[in-house]
Parts: sequence; structure tokens; C-alpha cells
Amino acid sequence: MAGFMDSINKGFATINVKTSNLMESTKLKTAISGRENDIASIMKTIGETVYINRTNFSMDMVSALIGEIEQKYREIEDFRGQLAQLEANEKNILGNSGGQGTEAKIFCMQCGAPNRIGGRFCEKCGTKLAE
Ligand SMILES: [Zn+2]
Repeated sequence: MAGFMDSINKGFATINVKTSNLMESTKLKTAISGRENDIASIMKTIGETVYINRTNFSMDMVSALIGEIEQKYREIEDFRGQLAQLEANEKNILGNSGGQGTEAKIFCMQCGAPNRIGGRFCEKCGTKLAE
């Protein structure tokens, strides 16, 4: 009976992890594309500033804008790191007990068990795996 409850709890944990990871990764992806849009619009402003001041342009006129872009790229890098962390966590929680959380897996169509890529048959139930 304990095994049954364990598998139910694990099922819920899996769903919770998937749902909260999905929300979190959607949030991060939205934040990344927001920064990318910001960068594109700052780039445009820099271009306009260069053009408008083409007869007396100096880098000082755009150094603050360049600083903003650098800041936004740092933020994007940070968000990407958080995304990678989320994916690694998800893989660990969803049952790669071998501690090889970053290794790619192929999932059995029959029982859902994660298998090594390249394996021909499911390690758990023996079903032939997709190529
Ligand atoms: Zn299987």
C-alpha cells in the first residue's frame, strides 16, 4: 500500500513540478523577450542619435544607452541561467535517479520510463523504443 501511495504522491509531485516549472519558464521567457525588445528599441535610439548628431557626434552622447543595453544583456544571461536551472531541476525530479540530470533521455511510449538514448528496449518494461 505504501508503494501505491508513493506512486500517487510522486504523480502529484510530477504534475506540480511540471506546472510550476512551466509557469516559471513562461515568465522567464517573457522577461527575456521583453529585454530583447528593449534592446532593439535602444539600438534604434542610438542609431537615431548618431544620425541626428552626425556632424558633431561623440560617443558620450550614447554611452548611457550602451550601458543600458549591457545591463539588459546581463539580465538576459541571468534569466537564461535560471531557465537552464529549471530544466535541470525538472529532469532530476522527474526520475533520473542515476544523478545524470543533464543527460538527454528517451521516454518509453508504453510505461513512460526514461531510457538512455540509443537503447533499443525500455529498461523497465522491455517495450521496443522509437528510433
Ligand atoms: Zn517501458
